[in-house]
Formats: sequence, structure tokens, C-alpha cells
Amino acid sequence: MSNVFKPDTLCVQGGWSPKKGEPRVLPIYQSTTFKYETSDQMAKLFDLEESGYFYTRLQNPTNDAVASKICALEGGAAAMLTSSGQAASFYAMFNICSAGDHIVSASTIYGGTFNLFAVTMKKLGIEVTFVDQDAPVDVIAKAFQPNTKALFAETISNPGLSILDIEKFAQIAHSQGVPLIVDNTFATPINCRPFEWGADIVIHSTTKYMDGHASSVGGAIVDSGNFDWNAYPGKFPGLTEPDASYHGLTYTESFGKGAYITKATVQLMRDLGSTQSPQNAFLLNLGLETLHLRVPRHCENALKVAQYLEGKEEVAWVNYCGLKGNKYYELGQKYMPKGSCGVVTFGLKGGRDVAIRFMDSLKLAAIVTHVADARTSVLHPASHTHRQLSDEQLIAAGVAPDLIRFSVGIESADDIIADIEQALANK
Ligand SMILES: *Cc1c(COP(=O)(O)O)cnc(C)c1O
Repeated sequence: MSNVFKPDTLCVQGGWSPKKGEPRVLPIYQSTTFKYETSDQMAKLFDLEESGYFYTRLQNPTNDAVASKICALEGGAAAMLTSSGQAASFYAMFNICSAGDHIVSASTIYGGTFNLFAVTMKKLGIEVTFVDQDAPVDVIAKAFQPNTKALFAETISNPGLSILDIEKFAQIAHSQGVPLIVDNTFATPINCRPFEWGADIVIHSTTKYMDGHASSVGGAIVDSGNFDWNAYPGKFPGLTEPDASYHGLTYTESFGKGAYITKATVQLMRDLGSTQSPQNAFLLNLGLETLHLRVPRHCENALKVAQYLEGKEEVAWVNYCGLKGNKYYELGQKYMPKGSCGVVTFGLKGGRDVAIRFMDSLKLAAIVTHVADARTSVLHPASHTHRQLSDEQLIAAGVAPDLIRFSVGIESADDIIADIEQALANK
């Protein structure tokens, strides 16, 4: 379906345009394998001379339809699904980095991604330098080395809720000759489309708002097709030099704007797996069909909750970029004028212990690891998702030890606020 449609239409109908007599609803192609008439037809697929499905570890029609919906929503050139957001972040990097390379990342990122970069990728010989995303351009530029291959950040950081100055980051990345990779999980393309501000690659944990119902873990990588890999000879050899595992084919030559996603599919998916199951892709698609309705409601409810918290005596601080006077209010207005996300963070007077008693007193809001769900949920990162980080790392990640991450759902805002009210009274 063409990108000329508005996001609301793409959410509902993008990715799947049935022809005469075909199912109206995207079918689940629950098949590992695909049939051909002649041995030669199959051989051409293995040589990447023709495109077609042969094994679901690499590609599946259900997954591709959902990927193309997400691609259209982001305004990208090519996209793929992955089994999780973590797999999307890893593949997005590993597709252009190998042992001996280096990446630069904002420090205020999701704890799982922080671990992936700082611990696991380090074991593969890829080093990371974390930077303060709010630092001036020249300070951030100092983190780059001749072997740096990418700059990474989140549009809205989880759980710090820092808003990324995407244009500033794109300018830094491009002046250093590397792509800007942005995790757009919290904003979703309904509120922000990072490609319009110069980002080159977007990744998602589709587990969050996109699925929206906490039913399926998944991820996506979308390429804008705008980064010119050939402009830097020798820097991205995986894309611009022949691949021995496909008879010396060169991705940028053969696939143009599809080079990056094709390589990630036919090399990384082939060798490492981490494909999304077609069943999960089907569920993700059902979630996407209402993304444009749910996201504004999350934002509306979150703003009401943030404004309520701001007025409460027991509350030490509230962070939500929709609040006037918030450190990120202006950046929020610039990059996501319709709203940011449904997540609000705050601290209670009395710190950690009071935070835990407050959470235990909530009745409607559930204590779960999950975030960005239709149901209101709550978490204390210092005790849960970010347990592995030291206090210094917590502060660098924008996570105060007393921070409560409150993921406002799409229930009645009155009921959510009443629940907070009674928990504050009973803590
Ligand atoms: C949850 C999350 C991830 C990781 O995604 P999974 O689907 O849980 O693997 C990455 N980035 C952000 C911003 C997230 O919130």
C-alpha cells in the first residue's frame, strides 16, 4: 500500500492489499517452508538472483506484510521484523559493526540496550562510548574514533524520558560519517518520525505500544535508505564489498536502498535466527490497527496524571515533557507536538521505601516489568529493570534511585488518578 496515505489509514490497512478472492485479513502463514516447481527456481533464491520465500527463518509473508506497514508508518525504504526489540538493536548494530569497531551511544537508554552495548557487544570486540545526549555538539563529537560505525539514541528514553534533539544528533553522526540509529519505541511513528529529522535507521521494540496489549514480544528495524554507505570507502565493507557467502554479491550494488535490510535478512537472520513467529506478527498487526487511536489516548491520560501528581504535596518531583516547565518541554513541542508517550516518572518524598509502599498499595495499576501497555502498569527501575546498574550508572542512565515509572494506560483517567490518590493515602 502506498505511502501517500495518512498514518491512520496505514495503521488499519497498510502492508496487506489482498487481490481477488484473497483473505481480507492478513493471514498467518504458519509454514516454515515454501514450495517451488523446479530445482532451478529454488537455486535462484539461494543466489539472491530472485526474491521469494523459501524458509521462515529468513522471511515469511505474514512478517513481511507487518514489516511493510511499519516501514510505511515510519516513511522508510525497507524494514524487517525481529523476535524482540533487543534483537532489533543488536542486528541494527551488528549489520555494520564487527570486532575492532566502536559505536557511540546516548547514556540514557533502556537498561537492556545498555547491557547489550556495554557487556555483550564488548565480548564480541565492539566497544561503546556513552555520551550525555544533552551535551554540546563539540563535546559529543570527541567520543568519535576512526573506527566508529554508528551513533545510537532513543527518541524518548526509557525510563529517563529525555527527549532526543534528533537534528543535533543527525548532524553529529553525519559530520562523523556514520548513520544515526534511533530507537523510536516510546514515541511511535504516530508521534514522531525520526527520518524527517535526519535519522538514518529506526528500531522498535514492537512489544510496547505497537503491540499495545502485552501479548507478543517483537522488534522491527526500518531503514530510511538515505545513508550513503559508498561515500566512505572501506568503512562499511559488509555492505559495499563482495559477500563470499553469496558468490561475491555486493549489497549496495544489487539492492540500492534495500541493501542494509537485505544484508540483515540474508546474513544475520540466516546465521543467527531471531526471526519473529508469524503468529506473533499477526497479533502485532492487530495492535497496529489501533495504534493511531491508542497513542493519543495514552498521551491525554498521561498528561492528566502528570498534572495531578504535580499538585500533590507527597510528590517530590514529576517528569513528563508535556508539563510546562519540564526540561524537555521545548524539544517535546518541536519533535512530538501531538504528545510524547504514556509514561510518566516521579519520585515521592521519603524516597525508595515510600516508593515501594506506594506501589504495593496500588490496586488498578499493576506491578509488571512491562511498559507501554493498554493497562496501567508501574515499576521501580532501581529495584527491577535496572538492578544490575551501580548508583553512578543509574544517574547516568537518567534513573534516580527513587524514580517510579508509571505507564499510563487507556482506561479512564479518573479511575487511574483515584487509584494513585488512594495509594498515596495508604502508603
Ligand atoms: C523494551 C524496550 C527495548 C527492548 O525490547 P524487547 O522487545 O523487550 O526486547 C528496547 N528499547 C526500548 C526503548 C524498550 O522500551
